[in-house]
Amino acid sequence: MPVYKAPTRDTRFVINELLKLESYGNLPGFESASTDMIDVVVEECGKFCAEVLGPINLSGDQEGCTRAADGSVTTPKGFKEAHAQFREAGWGTLSAPEEFGGQGMPHVLGMMAEEFISSANQAWGMYPGLTGGAVASILVKGSPEQQAKYLPKMISNEWLGTMNLTEPQCGTDLGLIRTRAVPQADGSYAITGTKIFISAGEHDLTDNIIHLVLAKLPDAPDSTKGISLFIVPKVMVNDDGSLGARNAVSCGSLEHKMGIHGNATCVMNYDGATGFLVGEENKGLAAMFIMMNAARLGVGIQGLSQAESAYQNAVKYAQERRQGRALTGAAEPAEKADTLFVHPDVRRMLMDAKAYTEGMRALCLWGALQVDLVHKAASEEERLAADDLISLLTPVIKGYGTDKGFETAVNMQQVFGGHGYIEEWGMSQFVRDARITQIYEGANGVQAMDLVGRKLATNGGRAVQALFAEVVKEAAEAKADPALSALAERVEKANGELKAATMWFMQNGMANPNNVGAGAHHYMHIMGIVALGLMWLKAGKVASAALAAGTSDKAFYEAKLVTARYFGERFTPDAGALRRKIESGADAVMELPVEAFATA
Ligand SMILES: Cc1cc2nc3c(=O)[nH]c(=O)nc-3n(C[C@H](O)[C@H](O)[C@H](O)COP(=O)(O)OP(=O)(O)OC[C@H]3O[C@@H](n4cnc5c(N)ncnc54)[C@H](O)[C@@H]3O)c2cc1C
Repeated sequence: MPVYKAPTRDTRFVINELLKLESYGNLPGFESASTDMIDVVVEECGKFCAEVLGPINLSGDQEGCTRAADGSVTTPKGFKEAHAQFREAGWGTLSAPEEFGGQGMPHVLGMMAEEFISSANQAWGMYPGLTGGAVASILVKGSPEQQAKYLPKMISNEWLGTMNLTEPQCGTDLGLIRTRAVPQADGSYAITGTKIFISAGEHDLTDNIIHLVLAKLPDAPDSTKGISLFIVPKVMVNDDGSLGARNAVSCGSLEHKMGIHGNATCVMNYDGATGFLVGEENKGLAAMFIMMNAARLGVGIQGLSQAESAYQNAVKYAQERRQGRALTGAAEPAEKADTLFVHPDVRRMLMDAKAYTEGMRALCLWGALQVDLVHKAASEEERLAADDLISLLTPVIKGYGTDKGFETAVNMQQVFGGHGYIEEWGMSQFVRDARITQIYEGANGVQAMDLVGRKLATNGGRAVQALFAEVVKEAAEAKADPALSALAERVEKANGELKAATMWFMQNGMANPNNVGAGAHHYMHIMGIVALGLMWLKAGKVASAALAAGTSDKAFYEAKLVTARYFGERFTPDAGALRRKIESGADAVMELPVEAFATA
């Protein structure tokens, strides 16, 4: 059976030493986030995930969810009990606002928990995970009555939430939504339509499920400007908070899918169900974006989580499996063969995984800190700067993060050779579960277009300029340290490729927008490399200082420096190749007529 142990040492390194969370003690919610407290929360959360959620990951994959004739859905064995324990321990409430029963702690800690939960059991984690996005929308756009009625029970996880965008004819292009919302005399709306692929749409974990549903009013514009957002409870909620009659929403069927078998992916039928408008009519997309932005960071961390779990298992396997001899001569002559660890090609895959997972963890937690600062920083200037950076990097964390997460999971499967292809080892599950992260919450091609088509140009390119400047500053500091100067030069060079690619888009995008579309994916990957490079510069700085100060944990910091060096040598050169692909433009991409793609 696969193993999982939360990487608490590395997480504490990022939160306490790289982000120095304790130094933000003047901000609301951060007062109690002392290093001691953070250490306890990280360790306990890691323990919960490893001991409660991890053991039901493989069995949940094998068993899957089942739907009965009456439309009810049963989750795999142990999922319901794990949810009860999760609620009891309050792990879902960490960074939720105190006025609705949350613990009000920094978002950074909520993000830490998301990684551990998802690494231990991604399919299970999506039940509370989607609720977080639904809560974010109601918090910002819901009326005070809606907030009072739904938020405390959603935050405590007594009820869970969903997001209902997708329809058979409408995925990326939400303007094509057909679900109707007809105003009723009592101020509610009758919702009618079919939604597909709805994660956690129906299950047995809670008595109620709060669906957030996108629909159009009868006279709404037939585009994204005509979308409204509704709360549609599975069971109606009385004014005193008790549960009333069953609403006209049901699960029509469960999708049979490649991975995340323990999560119910439902076709949801709304047959004149009672819904309540969130925010204003026809302004649903803005409300939904609040939910999607929160969810996109959550999906980015899912990419990391599957890579991390797969990596841990590959390391263990490479230590135990003996095949062949080291190229430099037998490493253990007394044995019949050496372990996989002696082979540079196996090492390459493991080092790639280490450099990605540790860099990505730092990027996700750093991103979560920006989210905290957007809401809580002392000055408007700091709030704006944080907003610029996290808005720019959200599609990168989602898109680049999950592309690399999947690639890493595949490479860790490769370390197992043929055994990686056999289900009982669990490596296949990591690959299958990681795959969805590239698709849902906006497919990665759409993330790339969001980055280059919208985020780059916002406010005259202020955010990307800020990123360039941050990298230059960090690299300049690192150059003064012999342990980091080579890395600094390489990251700075990748930053230069990013600048050049940005300039190329500015010069060639207006005349032919296909030039932007054809290079967007590569651009997102260059920015991913630069963003991870920034994190490795920061991590390297902390490690170098700790070693200079004579730390007692020498091995940990030395490994950080070697991994930082590896990142510089093996990740940053790709930025130049990607830039050259962008600069080749769209001509060859778009030239062939559709018929030329036919092979028969
Ligand atoms: C397991 C699972 C769980 C899901 N959970 C939910 C959920 O809880 N709620 C929900 O509402 N939805 C959910 N989805 C739906 C998911 O978000 C969509 O599948 C996804 O957004 C893509 O939409 P689509 O499948 O219709 O693909 P399409 O929109 O048809 O896209 C097909 C391809 O074309 C590309 N493409 C499309 N438009 C553009 C463009 N303008 N520019 C560049 N490329 C483009 C895409 O990148 C993609 O590669 C889930 C899906 C799955 C499989």
